[in-house]
Amino acid sequence: PSPGQPASPGAPLGLDVKAIIAVASGKGGVGKSTTAINLAMALAAGGRRVGLLDADIYGPSIPRMSGMSGRPSTPDGKRLRPMQAHGVNIMSMGFLVDEETPMIWRGPMVQSALQQMLGDVDWGPLDVLVVDLPPGTGDAQLTMAQRVPLAGAVIVSTPQDIALLDARKAINMFRKVNVPILGVVENMSYFCCPNCGHRTEIFAHGGARACAKRYEVPFLGEIPLDPVIRETSDGGTPIVVSQPGSPQALAYLEIGQRV
Ligand code: ADP
Repeated sequence: PSPGQPASPGAPLGLDVKAIIAVASGKGGVGKSTTAINLAMALAAGGRRVGLLDADIYGPSIPRMSGMSGRPSTPDGKRLRPMQAHGVNIMSMGFLVDEETPMIWRGPMVQSALQQMLGDVDWGPLDVLVVDLPPGTGDAQLTMAQRVPLAGAVIVSTPQDIALLDARKAINMFRKVNVPILGVVENMSYFCCPNCGHRTEIFAHGGARACAKRYEVPFLGEIPLDPVIRETSDGGTPIVVSQPGSPQALAYLEIGQRV
């Protein structure tokens, strides 16, 4: 389908997945992958069968964040078996190439790699497949929006104007291709000093909520700027898994309940 047409339901990918949810952002570095992996693990903690596809071919973060390395196996000689971390099925280009090898690919290669990571992977029956998209509104995002029957997209932004501007572009892109916006997450929403408890709004505050209101889409929640969130996700055991009772983990669990 061309832009403006709905994704064809039941695209020929042979997936047994009830809902595919894309996690997107306008800009890089706003915490999209951190949100995607914590959201996937929050959904799994709620008893769902969850997969996480890292669709960021050029800069895959999910292997690091899931604490997984090595190569996926092909038990039947055809389809790749996803890696398993903390109860979630995971696939990423990062499992197929060395960590420091750059993917020097043009758009069509990226598109076919994405289709293979969906169709040639034995995802098994899933309730939810979370797709961590690369930042922006390019080839990979369009492929996912048009070739895959997405249930919707979660938009992650930090609160400052420069990030929100690009978040609005991401919202408009999904609207153009008729993918519902499940809501907006404000990441790095504020910082509380661990010593004195003083709250600082480093990147301003509330912009993502205002953006959600303006576009009449749900606001899914605020995640603080917090060194523990970085340490746990970059260290391979996201906070939802490593500190499930913490306020930060609860914030992700609430987002999981709202999507
Ligand atoms: P993106 O996917 O948008 O490029 P990442 O999720 O890779 O961003 O996050 C970029 C960096 O910021 C990572 O080191 C990550 O651990 C860190 N980070 C993300 N969200 C937070 C947060 N709420 N608090 C602290 N660090 C964060």
